Amino acid sequence: MIVRMRNPDATHQLSGPLSVGEMLERLDVLPHTVLVIHDGELVTADHELPDDAEVEVRSVISGGAAGSSCVVCRVPAVIEEPRHRAAWCPDHFVEHVQRQVRKAIDHGHGLADGERMFSYDDRLLVAVSGGKDSLALWDVLLDLGYRVDGLYVGLGIGGYSARSGQTCRRFAERRGATLHEVDLAETYGYTTPSGASVAGRSTCGVCGLSKRYVFNRVAVDQGYDVLLTGHNLDDEAATLLGNLLRWHDDLLARQGPVLSGVDGRQARKCKPLYRLSEREMAAYCVVRGIDYVVEECPLVAGNSGHEQKAALDVLEAGSPGVKAQLLFGFLDRQERVAASAPSPGADVGSCQRCGMPTTTDVCAFCRQRERILAALPVLPSRAAV
Ligand code: SF4
Ligand SMILES: [Zn+2]
Ligand SMILES: [Zn+2]
Repeated sequence: MIVRMRNPDATHQLSGPLSVGEMLERLDVLPHTVLVIHDGELVTADHELPDDAEVEVRSVISGGAAGSSCVVCRVPAVIEEPRHRAAWCPDHFVEHVQRQVRKAIDHGHGLADGERMFSYDDRLLVAVSGGKDSLALWDVLLDLGYRVDGLYVGLGIGGYSARSGQTCRRFAERRGATLHEVDLAETYGYTTPSGASVAGRSTCGVCGLSKRYVFNRVAVDQGYDVLLTGHNLDDEAATLLGNLLRWHDDLLARQGPVLSGVDGRQARKCKPLYRLSEREMAAYCVVRGIDYVVEECPLVAGNSGHEQKAALDVLEAGSPGVKAQLLFGFLDRQERVAASAPSPGADVGSCQRCGMPTTTDVCAFCRQRERILAALPVLPSRAAV
């Protein structure tokens, strides 16, 4: 049989028949770190693979072993989640994901009594990267009947950006949804790689600040009520661990699935996937037939979030549910602390260059962009903001 491993990519030939569990053991792969796809279907450890099988093994994070029939209807399960001590068939797994998103929207951490992340009257904008999380979020919200458009920011990271943009456009077309696109080079005069080469800070730092700015700018300029991102449980737990390790009090105070906006200049931001793991989101895309970019950004190496994710995976493998306990336990306590703290945003002014909210004279994005443009050769496509 031919086994194609994705992320990192590799191809192996094995003789069968073998069960999925045996195949993974021969390849020295821990079952809870991957999703296995055979004939376009997600398969679990005891599924038999014939000698001529072609199998794809996608690297994802978290998970573990559990029963193999759906906890709702008892038909064979395609995904197991030890954190919930449950396994699901495709239909009931989609329901499980929708239920978790619904719970986040209606009763998420940081919401006051009776408050929701957003309502059916709101115009929503989801920032999509072409990866599994943001496309799955868009898909879930469209299915739940929300008014939600997408936003893709072209970062100029070679073939990776080209494939990501293409994937987002195909998804929007398939779902008949509206996709906004902003090209960083065309609109702001630099790409992530060119900006990072002269900005004097990490590539992901330059990229992250640029994306956050463009997301907010489009949401505000186009009159969206809420900006959504596809951050999942693994992302949020890893960020929390990083902030705890360095005791970033200011970031800890603001970390949460809901961030209120600032009077028409800063959109309200929400993360409706914070209750779902990376592995659940990958499985959701496979079950729903959503084509997403499996490869990682080639510039990800310097991203310290990866180390924290790896450390949490080790803990999760030994104690399923520990990531959720860390994150939700923190958010429960943070709500109690925040109730007595002064409201944020009281001393926010306007950037002298672009008018967006900032606590300094010129916002961090405009300062970064000025540094980059002063060091880069002038591009013919460079346009005024
Ligand atoms: S990994 Fe870093 S450089 Fe790549 S898209 Fe994410 S933030 Fe940008
Ligand atoms: Zn079922
Ligand atoms: Zn500015």
